[in-house]
Amino acid sequence: MEKREQLYEGKAKKVFKTDDPNLLIVSYKDDATAFNGEKKGTIEAKGVVNNRVSNHMMSLLEQEGIKTHYVKTLNDRETLVRSVKIIPLEVIMRNIAAGSLSKRLGLAEGTKLNSPVLEFCYKNDALGDPMINNYHIKAMNLATQEELEVIEKMAFAINAFMINHFKTVGIELIDFKIEFGRTSDGEVILADEISPDTCRFWDSKTNEKLDKDRFRRDLGNVEQAYQEVLKRLLGEH
Ligand code: UDP
Repeated sequence: MEKREQLYEGKAKKVFKTDDPNLLIVSYKDDATAFNGEKKGTIEAKGVVNNRVSNHMMSLLEQEGIKTHYVKTLNDRETLVRSVKIIPLEVIMRNIAAGSLSKRLGLAEGTKLNSPVLEFCYKNDALGDPMINNYHIKAMNLATQEELEVIEKMAFAINAFMINHFKTVGIELIDFKIEFGRTSDGEVILADEISPDTCRFWDSKTNEKLDKDRFRRDLGNVEQAYQEVLKRLLGEH
């Protein structure tokens, strides 16, 4: 697979064309941002951890019958993925109150939610990714009713699988953000990444945070937390 010109550079990843129009190469960076780009930094080897963690989770999800963009790990930081048009939605699933939900609803961090909560945000940096609902999504033509039904069903299935899987490695899945894309034949599949950048992970025993909140809130041991998630999922490497 030949790597061709860079298509796009985001906050945490670069995307390259390949000689196959249906395939792209994603390259994970160590750059970290928070608060809509206001806070910037680097987390050493984050790109390597996120690449491996995300590919591992997507492979497991594929085995569960969930279609993803994952094709093949190329090296420590680079992965071959199916080319999709990203649907401009951040799909957030929550099991335990934290972050913006705690703030908005006045729920203490760590409050167990009786049932999982799905939220949508409109992916738009200039607007600060505002929260929207199904009606906004249809009114703005961001996705169709049929696509929304697929996205919601997949999001709940992904959440149920991930809760159980992370429990087996001593991690509570607090919440996470996923993104979906459309393939050239209009199929909706899981895209983007699943990593400590995009999930909240708490140690099951100590409640220690093992995710990007360590960077957002200057809690220290950021690199160690990312490595710990990788180690628990994949063992020593
Ligand atoms: N999240 C993300 N990217 C974003 C916003 C949120 O990956 O642009 C993830 C975040 O890491 C957390 C979940 O989505 O796991 C819910 O985030 P929340 O709405 O609480 O926002 P935050 O506290 O990150 O501002």
